[in-house]
Amino acid sequence: MKKINIAIDGHSSCGKSTIAKQLAQHFAYVYIDTGAMYRAVCLYCLQESIMLDGLIDEERLLRKLNQIEVSFNYSRDTNASETYLNGVNVDQDIRGLWVSENVSKVSKIKVVREKMVAIQQAIGEDKGVVMDGRDIGTVVFPDAELKLFVTASLEERARRRHAELEGVSLEDVIKNLGDRDFDDSTRVENPLKQAVDAIVIDNTNLSREEQFALILKHCQDAMQ
Ligand code: C5P
Repeated sequence: MKKINIAIDGHSSCGKSTIAKQLAQHFAYVYIDTGAMYRAVCLYCLQESIMLDGLIDEERLLRKLNQIEVSFNYSRDTNASETYLNGVNVDQDIRGLWVSENVSKVSKIKVVREKMVAIQQAIGEDKGVVMDGRDIGTVVFPDAELKLFVTASLEERARRRHAELEGVSLEDVIKNLGDRDFDDSTRVENPLKQAVDAIVIDNTNLSREEQFALILKHCQDAMQ
């Protein structure tokens, strides 16, 4: 079977990372969560007050951009790859609502995207990568051998996300997902959109097992 790149795009909280992790483990591929990279840049902007009250000082961000290093390290404890910002493990911090509510404002900035996309493309050069995000099949790996576009109803996505968070109301989660879907799909730079050659996976009514079996079949076809 040939080594391929697998691009997974889709709306917020539709289970892209679950699929990506399952596939990476199954095929012993590298998994890259590109959302975590944008989240880490957003956290940096918040911590350094480059972003205040939802407004970003883009000039300052541009000057600081080469001081932002995002990397992944495997953790034995969680048996997963965790996100580091300038050498500090920020894997928990980037998942909170503070970052979720602000990340789309950072991810729409052209220079931020250019930096992240260049890193992502370098990682994928030797193939054997599963990458999830919003622009993987359209911009990062337009030649990926397999492209999946994952979606589910907003209500179902919010219900699943809400179950993972503590101290946040379901209404706030629905609002955040709806806002991010809108911002991500309507921005000028690399908006979220389905690649013409992507396979759509609507998992609203699929169990994890059903979904995985379906996707494995697509992988096997692409690896022939
Ligand atoms: O995937 P996740 O929900 O963690 O992504 C967080 C945010 O990062 C998205 O809402 C989007 O604004 C941004 N993102 C992006 N391009 C990607 C991955 C994520 O713009 N490839």
